[in-house]
Amino acid sequence: MITKTVKQISEMIKIENDLSEFQNIEVRGLSIDSRKIEQGNLFVPFKGENSDGHRFVEEAIQKGAAAAFWQKDVPNPPLHLPILIVEDTLLALQELARAYRNMLNVRIVGITGSNGKTTTKDMTANLLAIEYKVQKTEGNFNNEIGLPLTILALEEDTEIAVLEMGMSSRGEIDFLTRLARPEAAIITNIGESHLLDLGSREGITEAKLEIINGLQENGLVTYYGDEPLLSEKLLDYKGNIMIKTFGRRGINNIYPVDIEQNDNGSVFSTNVSNSEFKLPVLGTHNVLNALAAMTVANQFGVPYEKMNEGFAKLKLTNMRTELLQGRKGEKIINDAYNASPTSMHAAIELLSHLPGYKNKILVLGDMLELGPEEKNFHLKMGESIDPNKINYVLTFGKLGEWIAEGARKKLPADHVFSFTEKQLLIEKIEKLVDEETIVLVKASRGMKLEEIIAALQ
Ligand code: ATP
Ligand code: MG
Repeated sequence: MITKTVKQISEMIKIENDLSEFQNIEVRGLSIDSRKIEQGNLFVPFKGENSDGHRFVEEAIQKGAAAAFWQKDVPNPPLHLPILIVEDTLLALQELARAYRNMLNVRIVGITGSNGKTTTKDMTANLLAIEYKVQKTEGNFNNEIGLPLTILALEEDTEIAVLEMGMSSRGEIDFLTRLARPEAAIITNIGESHLLDLGSREGITEAKLEIINGLQENGLVTYYGDEPLLSEKLLDYKGNIMIKTFGRRGINNIYPVDIEQNDNGSVFSTNVSNSEFKLPVLGTHNVLNALAAMTVANQFGVPYEKMNEGFAKLKLTNMRTELLQGRKGEKIINDAYNASPTSMHAAIELLSHLPGYKNKILVLGDMLELGPEEKNFHLKMGESIDPNKINYVLTFGKLGEWIAEGARKKLPADHVFSFTEKQLLIEKIEKLVDEETIVLVKASRGMKLEEIIAALQ
């Protein structure tokens, strides 16, 4: 993590007060949460609409912070303490990250896309770690605050940093990529998340493609080649970058042949190597994420033959397609972390093709923030369910009812139920499950379907 004296920091960014009294104090790392201060941290308060982090500056310093930023327009700065007065604390954090990034020799991989960023980030970091010292975004710290903090947490001897870049509107990825200046970038896919803000899938595509704006010369972009919106823009892209695609279809630079799925994940081979890969996570959408990670790792010189070492160590962040045991002997796939049409579709595919279960139950809730077309997205989702592969469909929430409506066109009416009360849903699930059952639970974050899972365990 960044280790600099107050004097050095004042040379990296513009500080507005005289710090001669404090210039030799050493700062180690940053924190934006006064409750999580570690010895020597630089505390960064933000002035929000409802709360103001400046109230905690003194407390942070008492708890061990070596210094703190202070935003110029906040009155009564405690000048007896080592505070660094800046125009705007968020901008100062970002500027510091930019300056620090420029001092480091680190090589950066940036990852964006509608679904699968965190998963692909974890996979990419694992594969690169076979040959390099790697750091990565912790959890989902992928925005205008999280990315600068991740950069400032990099050690000087880290060789590669794998950074997740998230967004909810135009210009955000542009900002993050110009700050990070990646040498390789991944666009996992184009979905429908943030459709409300970006207007159309074309708009979403444009926003993800911004990642190229900060790519280094001759850098690599790898993208999901089965997505026509991406191919349209990138197939004849003019510029000094290298482009590679991954996807299910044979038109891609890397594609899977023979995917076999079981309870532990997928086993697959590819067109690029003789090796067989063992991926300990469920779902063929994760094979796609793995192909993206493999493309980047191979670009950095990691041989395909070694990649199983990296896959074997995967521990995906909680709630991303986890396989759990229910009380009645049933298996539960917890995918309650979030949902959009693309990811819900991937989840339905996953359950549909999982061998070894006689009774397959989908528990699906609302997908939020889809804009005016939301009803249609839910209806179509229900209609896409294959009655030969799925036995029951249980929905939760107001929009979920449209999924049920669609599903009733395919499945027998007494195999589709919709609920607006969690307790009733739980009771219904418990009536339907046995040892030969597998239940998949998925909805938008706001629906909190992990409560259902907790009740079933
Ligand atoms: P967020 O925007 O919340 O940061 P993310 O892009 O980081 O999400 P993950 O957290 O990796 O995505 O995965 C979230 C969910 O998306 C997974 O549980 C899975 O259901 C789905 N998903 C992951 N990868 C793909 C993919 N390649 N295609 C479709 N759906 C996917
Ligand atoms: Mg994420």
